[in-house]
Amino acid sequence: MATATARNGSTATAWRNWAGNVTATPTRVVTPASVGELQEAVRRAAEDGLRVKAVGTGHSFTAAAATDGVLVRPQALAGIRSIDRAAGTVTVAAGTALKDLNRALAAEGLSLTNMGDIMEQTVSGATSTGTHGTGRDSASIAAQIRALELVTADGRLLTCSQKENSEVFSAARVGIGALGIVTAITFAVEPLFFLTAREEPMGFERVTAEFEEHFAENEHFEFYWFPHTGNCNTKRNNRSQGPAAPPGPVSGWIEDELLSNGLFQAVNTLGRAVPATIPAIARVASRALSARTYTDIPYRVFTSPRRVRFVEMEYALPREAVVEALRELRTTVDRSRLRISFPVEVRTAPADDIPLSTASGRDTAYIAVHMYRGTPYRAYFTAAERIFTAHGGRPHWGKVHTRDAEYLSRVYPRFGEFTALRDRLDPDRVFGNDYLRRVLGA
Ligand SMILES: Cc1cc2nc3c(=O)[nH]c(=O)nc-3n(C[C@H](O)[C@H](O)[C@H](O)COP(=O)(O)OP(=O)(O)OC[C@H]3O[C@@H](n4cnc5c(N)ncnc54)[C@H](O)[C@@H]3O)c2cc1C
Repeated sequence: MATATARNGSTATAWRNWAGNVTATPTRVVTPASVGELQEAVRRAAEDGLRVKAVGTGHSFTAAAATDGVLVRPQALAGIRSIDRAAGTVTVAAGTALKDLNRALAAEGLSLTNMGDIMEQTVSGATSTGTHGTGRDSASIAAQIRALELVTADGRLLTCSQKENSEVFSAARVGIGALGIVTAITFAVEPLFFLTAREEPMGFERVTAEFEEHFAENEHFEFYWFPHTGNCNTKRNNRSQGPAAPPGPVSGWIEDELLSNGLFQAVNTLGRAVPATIPAIARVASRALSARTYTDIPYRVFTSPRRVRFVEMEYALPREAVVEALRELRTTVDRSRLRISFPVEVRTAPADDIPLSTASGRDTAYIAVHMYRGTPYRAYFTAAERIFTAHGGRPHWGKVHTRDAEYLSRVYPRFGEFTALRDRLDPDRVFGNDYLRRVLGA
């Protein structure tokens, strides 16, 4: 990584996201160890005419976190601040990694209600782009926020909840870094519970025909479809009495490490070198997974390691449109010369009340398409995006898409509410970057 010493003595370092498809060269990099230091860094940047951007762990596939100004690293603003058992809340510093939060909560006999597929991200980075898992009744991680603290463009610290600065609270839960730098988040938590996961291979026709039933009968339903095949893998997670019965060390290792990570990596590398092999490999790979049932505490069921690097696009659709959109995607892939080695993931979320949440005001289902890192992805993503946007889709803020403010203002009824607040809180666009200019407008 290239490094250069900037005028305040801090070291500027070329920055790259997890997928490696976004790089940036900030003028300086700061790692504030207190909220006061962060406020000072924001004030100094404004004085120097530099823009400011907080990054998490760089797990976004978009340039949401990229900056040529001052890059604020999260590492020194991390850890649990307090737990309020009576209120059922935990307050954490914004740079805390989700994995550290989950483990600390479990040690206290507590848990978040729902989470995404991995837990490497920071709490602030994950919530800022609307990171979600799958749920019938429980929504994204941001929807579990009860209060937050934000440093605004003038260096002030705002405390926000439904009772205090409620308009800022409402929008800043999914703020894409546009409203200020989040310094702490208070999440709703509940007593630790068990989830029983049932993974089961199922044919495409059956899953799509029965989608609404699987959705209605399970607290958390999702499935993966393997392109070039009629095969899917379904996952149903429901609360149970326990006790914990995780996959045995050998079967867990075979499914999670070998099939999902090690072998998957080898298969993708072969597919990248010789794309014509992909359909045959997909047929074998999609049959290699077998049905299994296991029970564990929530984060061990919801999340798993993802060691194979990829780029991803994900759109939120009205739930009633998802099956039709997926069928259209299958037809498009079948009729094309595309060779896709990654499964397509389908998840759900109930409507929420966050202006820029992808599930804002509508019951939602997500379709995510992936491509192995280093494989050309534009043709596939363009074809998929055409289908998703025809259904009024909303792109995940942290995943590849080509939409701009004009489109987004049509699919988010509360878009204007968010941009008006941004105009008030950050009129000079101290927290701006090229990505925000595209998706929110100047
Ligand atoms: C392997 C993998 C698996 C994934 N799984 C899922 C999944 O299951 N579900 C899902 O929805 N998404 C998923 N994602 C996407 C990912 O959760 C989001 O892109 C998330 O935003 C990344 O968090 P981060 O900490 O890396 O933040 P970054 O990507 O570094 O930053 C994201 C945004 O947050 C802003 N931000 C960061 N910190 C602050 C702060 N303190 N104050 C204000 N703004 C801030 C940044 O400026 C930027 O705009 C996955 C990504 C990868 C690579």
